[in-house]
Amino acid sequence: MQELLERNKGLRRRVLIVDDEAIEREMLGSMLSDLYEISYAENGAIALDIIKELKQNLSLIILDLYMPELDGYSLLQVIRTDPYMKRIPVIVLTSEKSSEIKCLKMGAADFIVKPYDEPNLIRARVGHSIELAEDSIIIHETERDSLTGLFNKEFFVEYGMRMDIQNGNIPMDAITIDINHFHIVNELYSRTYGDLILKRIGTAIHNFVRINGGLACRAGGNSFDIYIPHTDDLAERVPEYIADIESIIDDKSISFRMGVYTGVDTDINMERRLECARLACRKLRNSYTTCYAFYSEEMHNKELREERLISDMDRALAEKQFKLYYQPKYNIEGEIPVLSSAEALVRWVHPEFGMISPVEFIPLFEKNGLIQKLDHYVWNEAAAMARHWRDKHGIHLPVSVNVSRVDVFNPMLCELLCEIVKNNELVPEGLLLEITESAYTDNADQIIQTVHNLRELGFKIEMDDFGCGYSSLNMLNSLPIDALKLDMTFIRNISTDKKDYRLVAIMIDIARLLGVPVIAEGVETKEQMELLKEIGCEIIQGYYFSKPLPADEFEILLTTAQI
Ligand code: C2E
Ligand code: CA
Ligand code: CA
Repeated sequence: MQELLERNKGLRRRVLIVDDEAIEREMLGSMLSDLYEISYAENGAIALDIIKELKQNLSLIILDLYMPELDGYSLLQVIRTDPYMKRIPVIVLTSEKSSEIKCLKMGAADFIVKPYDEPNLIRARVGHSIELAEDSIIIHETERDSLTGLFNKEFFVEYGMRMDIQNGNIPMDAITIDINHFHIVNELYSRTYGDLILKRIGTAIHNFVRINGGLACRAGGNSFDIYIPHTDDLAERVPEYIADIESIIDDKSISFRMGVYTGVDTDINMERRLECARLACRKLRNSYTTCYAFYSEEMHNKELREERLISDMDRALAEKQFKLYYQPKYNIEGEIPVLSSAEALVRWVHPEFGMISPVEFIPLFEKNGLIQKLDHYVWNEAAAMARHWRDKHGIHLPVSVNVSRVDVFNPMLCELLCEIVKNNELVPEGLLLEITESAYTDNADQIIQTVHNLRELGFKIEMDDFGCGYSSLNMLNSLPIDALKLDMTFIRNISTDKKDYRLVAIMIDIARLLGVPVIAEGVETKEQMELLKEIGCEIIQGYYFSKPLPADEFEILLTTAQI
């Protein structure tokens, strides 16, 4: 009893007693009035009015079953089916055992048997019912996301694990849903509209798990997780689910992506399954054509390998696992091709994975900015090699290095390159800089300024992969560059495809108009080389002359070549 008093301290909860017998009402009221504020109603209809008026301020209803107007059963029915009233616990007053089951089924919290027992027992029952109801509200509120009403992440994982145990680890499917460019929805249409969309998706997902018997949560801002028992035809039904969700969202400008992991592997836990679905979903981030993807083992292995490469990078730099290969470029204007420079191309000789191509790790390092460290290393090594050729053989061969689009954002880029050139006692013309054309179209102003500054300092800039980056002719005109390097996809079919041949001829004309030489890379055959020479291409790089070579092999080529 002391505990009850404690709990009620400061806040006197209100109890509604509904009974047609005045004497019964008063007896009960007097037992409880020292602990609670009491309201009285003599039938169901009056009770209903009071309940509606008191709303949140009513903590418990004590209800007689047999009354005129609206009886106890009917009132209980009304209370239990109303989303707001149903949180109020109801204790039923009864004199017959037989009605207990019926009332329990209708959602009564407890019973008080007439004639009344011990007052203390009644007070205990009332206190207990209020406490239980309040605790369950608190639980409900903490385990749910307030906007969508779905579980929050923590409880979702907890219940998911329980579900696994209770269902004897039957196979489950995990699905992740993300809204595309949600921040733009918020910015363009206001947060209120964004919230409305989230609510609608919440409703759609709620329906989905209701039908499929699973759990769902709002995993983060605009991301939802679903965990449902596995069905074999999930793959076929995904488009149908997507259409359902779309119809509830009811806004054509909003799209989402769905990552699906159909779980046949019962050995991996729920978090892992969700992570797999999320991984499949992430793969769709920049896709405009597909809106769902299935997780595969291959996807997972790729992710693991990428993580590994990222974490191994610093050590690889320290241990000089990155090796530079050099591929010669030849000037073909005269009778005999003349070695004019070499492109430094990096490879990773990984202690466990062996030789790794830059095609695999460069895009990965560009995504997280690590490329700056690697490029810095490569530039240093390449410059040191040019110095070595000069000091050992007296050959001044320029070496070209690749400058990633990420490097262009480094405000210290000019200083960095100048320092490298100075430390190796080179001139800026000795370190050619290849910048991919797409970097120009990505961030035109920034790059034009950077390239302008670099050229002022004496560096020569070659625009790499020309033809792939959609520079406009107008833009080309204002571009500060020293050479155009045609993308190798144009060279590939130059001798068999008339259209490609003409395209290359046009690009060479453009270069002529800009007053810069053209470098063709990926030249593999004599025929390609001769065609290029015919239409005025000055410099050739490709397997026809040589593959990229390790430093020692390149040194042999260098010392035997005609420069
Ligand atoms: P890229 O700069 O366009 O380099 C040309 C690529 O074509 C090189 O591939 C080269 O080995 C290859 N190649 C050369 N001649 C031929 C040929 O006749 N036929 C064919 N099929 N291929 C040929 P690699 O070395 O695998 O490099 C791939 C890309 O990785 C490079 O493309 C470049 O974008 C990037 N990369 C390489 N090293 C570095 C670096 O140190 N820093 C940065 N940022 N990127 C680098
Ligand atoms: Ca290049
Ligand atoms: Ca290229």
